[in-house]
Amino acid sequence: MARIVMKFGGTSVADLNRIHNVARHVKREVDAGHEIAVVVSAMSGKTNELVGWVENMPKVAGSNAPFYDAREYDAVVASGEQVTSGLLAIALQSMGINARSWQGWQLPIKTDNTHGAARILDIDGADIVRRMGEGQVAVVAGFQGLGPDNRLATLGRGGSDTSAVAIAAAVKADRCDIYTDVDGVYTTDPRIEPKARRLKKVAFEEMLEMASLGAKVLQVRSVELAMVHKVRTFVRSSFEDPDAPGMGDLLNPPGTLICDEDEIVEQEVVTGIAYAKDEAQISLRRLADRPGVSAAIFGPLAEAHINVDMIVQNISEDGSKTDMTFTVPSGDVNKALKVLSDNKEKIGYDVAQSESGLVKVSVIGIGMRSHAGVAASAFRALADKGINIKAITTSEIKISILIDGPYAELAVRTLHSAYGLDKS
Ligand code: ASP
Ligand code: MG
Repeated sequence: MARIVMKFGGTSVADLNRIHNVARHVKREVDAGHEIAVVVSAMSGKTNELVGWVENMPKVAGSNAPFYDAREYDAVVASGEQVTSGLLAIALQSMGINARSWQGWQLPIKTDNTHGAARILDIDGADIVRRMGEGQVAVVAGFQGLGPDNRLATLGRGGSDTSAVAIAAAVKADRCDIYTDVDGVYTTDPRIEPKARRLKKVAFEEMLEMASLGAKVLQVRSVELAMVHKVRTFVRSSFEDPDAPGMGDLLNPPGTLICDEDEIVEQEVVTGIAYAKDEAQISLRRLADRPGVSAAIFGPLAEAHINVDMIVQNISEDGSKTDMTFTVPSGDVNKALKVLSDNKEKIGYDVAQSESGLVKVSVIGIGMRSHAGVAASAFRALADKGINIKAITTSEIKISILIDGPYAELAVRTLHSAYGLDKS
């Protein structure tokens, strides 16, 4: 007997037939004798619709009231998950399974006060653990919790992944299965490289890099939580026949296991190639080379909530002037340039130049820690294809390369084969 948290995303619960199909997946595990908690997202498209209602409320002319109250935003957008949790409980009951729905405030899932992007602080799992022991399936509404102000709070878009992992940690589940519309995590985006392979296992740290680099399988926060609490997390498809052979395998269900690196015996040097579109580069020319310059640049950008990613600074030749280049999301480039020009005196630079439509391609693998020459082979492979590199950053387990947008797909395919990822 095991305790399993099963999470189903929006496309898996998109209509009543799919909810019925989800119930069959749950039934399979219940029939095998496991204790089950389920976490659901809203039906796909629902949350967007709800957000749209909040944002498009007509305003009274001349009113300077805030655009909307974030607590009421949460009250509205959390409702999508309330619906699917109830519907799934009904579907399970119709199959003769003892099940009930739980809203975030009922457990409760306690969050901080950041409405719209709240973080989970604590989950009281005692009640569902007791009931799971009595054979009841808990169907928990994802994406929502209860803030310190006693109001509904939502966890940010994609947050039901985080609900699932947090609940798995709270009830000490043996496994957290994230059912989605893809059957696992791939070496790269299969839409770009058809030879991409599904990975059996990915280390938490690698998944964290892949998730934050645009492999949108899981919310980044959920991977962080899984890493901290060592929750073994499977990414698997809800669209396979729930009763196909192997679906109920306790140790090796079909999909990708995200786990501690100790569990990965045969570690490849490179695990995957990720990319992030719509990056922009800003260069400040002839900047004074003195203490405090970086603080003067990045302080105001941070205050404006602009997410700066790659930062490259040159060493000046004569110790007086240097250049600084960094990247921001393309959507933020005008805001960033405004902040920089507002602070031009304080920072002390000559000109600010910018370029949008760039792409960051990254090579990821914990095996890099113990191998030399990994970066050099990326540079060689890109050079052979005539792809120009604009900026490079590296970490222990990642090399990120900034290139012109139109070369993105070629670069991904080139790196994928350079590291032998298309050979199984
Ligand atoms: N329904 C929410 C959203 O679309 C949460 C989730 O799907 O994870 O962001
Ligand atoms: Mg999702």
